[in-house]
Amino acid sequence: MRPLQDEVEQRGRRIFELVDKYPERVFTKAGFYQRLMALSMHDERFKTQLFRFVAVLPSLRRSTDIIQHLGEYFSDSNDGFHPLVGLGVRVARLLPWISAPILRWNVSETARQFIAGRNPDDVIATLRKGRRQKIGFTVDVLGEAVVSEAEADKYAARYTDLLEKLACEAKDWIDPLGKSMELFPVVNLSVKISALYSQISPAAPADAIAHLGTKLRPLLRRARELGAFINFDMESYALKNTTLELFKTILTEAEFKGWPHAGIVIQAYLQDSKRDLRDLIEWGRARGTRFAVRLVKGAYWDYETTRSGQNGSNPPVFLQKPQSDANFEALTRVLFENESIVTAAFGSHNVRSIAHAQAVADELEIDRSRFEFQLLYGMAGPVKRALVEMGYRVREYCPIGELLPGMAYLVRRLLENTSNEGFLRAKFAENVPAKELLREPRELIKPAVTGIGPSAVALAKTDDPGALDGSTQKNGASLRTTAGDSFRNAPLVSFLYKDSHDKMQSALREVRKRFGEKYPLYIGGEKVWADNLTPSVNPAEPTEIVGYGTEAGVDEAERAVKAARTAFEKWRWTPFEQRAQLLDRAADILERRRYELSAVEVCEVGKPWSEADADIREAIDFCRFYAQQMRRLGRPKLTQQVPGEESYHHYWPRGVAFVIAPWNFPVAILCGMASAGVVAGNAVIMKPSEQSIVCGAMLMQVFEEAGVPPGVLNFLSGHGSVVGAHLVDHKDVDLIAFTGSREVGLKIWESAGITRPGQRELKRVICEMGGKNAMIVDTDADIDETIMYSIYSAFGFQGQKCSALSRLILLDENYDRVMERLIPAAASLRMGNPEQPGIMVGPVIDEAAYRRILEYIEIGKREATLAYQAKEVPPHGYFIPPTIFTDVKPNMRIAREEIFGPVLSVLRVHDLDEALEVANGTDYALTGGFFSRSPGNIERVKARLEAGNVYINRSCTGAIVGRHPFGGFKMSGSGTKAGGEDYLLHFLVPRVVTENTSRHGFAPEQSPENRDEFLWPKPQR
Ligand SMILES: Cc1cc2nc3c(=O)[nH]c(=O)nc-3n(C[C@H](O)[C@H](O)[C@H](O)COP(=O)(O)OP(=O)(O)OC[C@H]3O[C@@H](n4cnc5c(N)ncnc54)[C@H](O)[C@@H]3O)c2cc1C
Repeated sequence: MRPLQDEVEQRGRRIFELVDKYPERVFTKAGFYQRLMALSMHDERFKTQLFRFVAVLPSLRRSTDIIQHLGEYFSDSNDGFHPLVGLGVRVARLLPWISAPILRWNVSETARQFIAGRNPDDVIATLRKGRRQKIGFTVDVLGEAVVSEAEADKYAARYTDLLEKLACEAKDWIDPLGKSMELFPVVNLSVKISALYSQISPAAPADAIAHLGTKLRPLLRRARELGAFINFDMESYALKNTTLELFKTILTEAEFKGWPHAGIVIQAYLQDSKRDLRDLIEWGRARGTRFAVRLVKGAYWDYETTRSGQNGSNPPVFLQKPQSDANFEALTRVLFENESIVTAAFGSHNVRSIAHAQAVADELEIDRSRFEFQLLYGMAGPVKRALVEMGYRVREYCPIGELLPGMAYLVRRLLENTSNEGFLRAKFAENVPAKELLREPRELIKPAVTGIGPSAVALAKTDDPGALDGSTQKNGASLRTTAGDSFRNAPLVSFLYKDSHDKMQSALREVRKRFGEKYPLYIGGEKVWADNLTPSVNPAEPTEIVGYGTEAGVDEAERAVKAARTAFEKWRWTPFEQRAQLLDRAADILERRRYELSAVEVCEVGKPWSEADADIREAIDFCRFYAQQMRRLGRPKLTQQVPGEESYHHYWPRGVAFVIAPWNFPVAILCGMASAGVVAGNAVIMKPSEQSIVCGAMLMQVFEEAGVPPGVLNFLSGHGSVVGAHLVDHKDVDLIAFTGSREVGLKIWESAGITRPGQRELKRVICEMGGKNAMIVDTDADIDETIMYSIYSAFGFQGQKCSALSRLILLDENYDRVMERLIPAAASLRMGNPEQPGIMVGPVIDEAAYRRILEYIEIGKREATLAYQAKEVPPHGYFIPPTIFTDVKPNMRIAREEIFGPVLSVLRVHDLDEALEVANGTDYALTGGFFSRSPGNIERVKARLEAGNVYINRSCTGAIVGRHPFGGFKMSGSGTKAGGEDYLLHFLVPRVVTENTSRHGFAPEQSPENRDEFLWPKPQR
């Protein structure tokens, strides 16, 4: 027998012969589309702009809007873009009423090339045509992202309707091969789970399966009655495990156990796809009934690599295209080897992948009627025809839907067709020779590309795989990255992995066992107890006491200042490298105790799992980032190179720092302020919030274990009005770092301005207060994204983030479209005890907050219109129903005052100017956001929105250390940026030492750039 490669080549050449016999272009329509593709493939920047323009076009209603966007996207077409484009833009500006409809028509036609019909009736004509060509079908429904249960219900109804119509149309259709037809029902429907449940959380597969099961069972039941086939499509990696689990769970149920006409997708670009396929086969064998698998490479490669790049985690996908190809081939063999239980479908346009499947089937003597090839509608027509001619079973994947929601699908197809890595471009646009296209993919895999995150991905896209190895990494930073990008954040925990899920569950159980424990103060390296204890309760179950904090009084505060003062005199001369290492050790301990600390947060402040984990991640990042920054700032630096004189600029610590933290980021903010103080050489007294004492005590334990010298970090739990006030006024406290309410912040600011007898320093105050954050929604905004991000920003962690969205500003033109989806989306949120995974809205922090927020809701009812309020809340705990007010005017209290709870005010404005005026019209300037796809408007808002952190087309919460230095101005704060390059400077005093180095006219030629011997080692005391 000939080697497999020869067999593959022979079959591949045959396909190419047939493809070339019918010289139809691979993309079935010429003209506009062909020209755009050609331009896109020559110019990456044009491609980006074009695809963005295509995505926004359907949402533009007026010709003038279309032309305005055209101009904004392609205005600089002279520099680099094709001259034709520039000319087109100019002509369009002159004749908008002609150009805009033509443009819209062309793009619609392009979309129609990939979308088989607007609705079920429309698609039938397409399916009939396929039938004449002996091509079968599977139909998929395109639509907007499902953001509410009302939308999910509509989708389910559309699937059912489609199924009925297809079954009715195809009842007399016969199998094109007339063989093995029992394996391949004519009617084939592809479903996506994200369309059927709006609240899928990767952390809560059981919840998703319960909800999805309810929607899917009737559909599967009906499909069985009608003799149809249902395929579970595969989406992003976050949904993969849930999709697999759902498939197995439902099809093991007695009702469906013996039904063979269901299938699922395996994505060969995933590194764990082989394991998943083997698990599925094992499951199938145990179940004892045939099922189907569509093997594909996967449609979300760019999305997965971007996501993991942002999180700094390993991408779940292979990084080299030939790896995906090779894995596709390996899985092809696994499928055929298990043909007795699994029916295979190969979803690929790649002739090599197809020819390989044919060769392996022949090798294993599997009849060609027992598997099928599936290709997308509108793509690779000649390949389909060739396969039919060769006697293979071919099925076309036909999406149906309206143009607007179809744009996301269109953009995916355009990307695929123009991808540098893709087969279609290589064959049909670049005419790469058949021999090259049919090469064995394993031969093309380059030596291992190591590393994670964006740099590894970027590298995978280049031709330089050897360049990224351990040697280029230092202090968690890649030396190849640009300035400002030299810090690597700790990745977030992904609860979609069972292992992480189990660890979190077990941490929660362990933390519960320790409920009621008492936590001491920590002063001068000693644990200190006092008579009074403060209970810290679980806001979801207020009868439960998570722990007791020792209540410090004025005596303990005095002891702490003395201990800090003494420790400072030594710590200030401790080389910065040792101080930085202390933070690195603390970061390591935080990593080790990550689940435990997250679990404490869940119980003590009611944070949902992923929010709690993000808080611990932030604490880890603060330690590592400030350690890195201190290494940058610590060495005295030459100011100017001049002969005969040298001046070194450097920093001294300020002295004793008093850190006052809030409960809403109970580990991160406390840790951020304290670690900045400590690494800068100050001695720190930290006071946690009264509502999160246990979290604070845990952080103290971390630093104790990390080896913080006695007195350098002191832990003082107690009432703000007693110890807080005492220390703010204390003459021996040199610096106050505060994050909390405006009311307290302003008092501290004022009090710190008074110089007391014996005070050495002018007190420095770092003061971060609240916000009344606004997001503006432009007329051309992507509504799916607007809803998802607004809901998350407003109601995530019950709206108790200082960055939370509290004013949504909608332009008239968009108002109805946003509101009709916003309210059902809010109504679909999962509310409950955050100990359960996947909860979005938990309790507010305590009874006082509960009462205050309810009061604001009453004020809102009087001032504005209550548009939505959740009806049911859990019976115990401080749960406030998510609430939305409309008809809110800028001068109303609910539009001006910080509420700090799940209450959203919606304001309606005429245009962007008014929107900016309203957004900027409060006392605060913390975060703000804008949803728009107009480059011109985005630039305007970037320039004019008054907020310390401006976010475009994303949520306005979730700042990441080093990436989004966080903090506001006006009444939101003193303009400091936690997690930013200049943050440590607030904890330091700058100094310059100048020495005349010339002696009798002789001077050394050069002074070193850094000189630190005059600081370290330091005077013995
Ligand atoms: C009928 C049908 C149904 C499909 N259903 C699904 C589905 O449910 N879910 C889904 O996710 N996909 C699905 N796909 C796959 C997806 O839509 C793409 O069409 C497919 O991945 C393209 O692969 P190809 O073999 O045709 O082309 P090729 O050009 O050979 O491969 C392109 C693919 O290689 C992978 N790739 C690209 N660059 C790299 C890289 N640097 N490193 C590693 N891998 C890389 C990507 O998966 C990319 O799509 C389906 C495809 C078809 C034809």
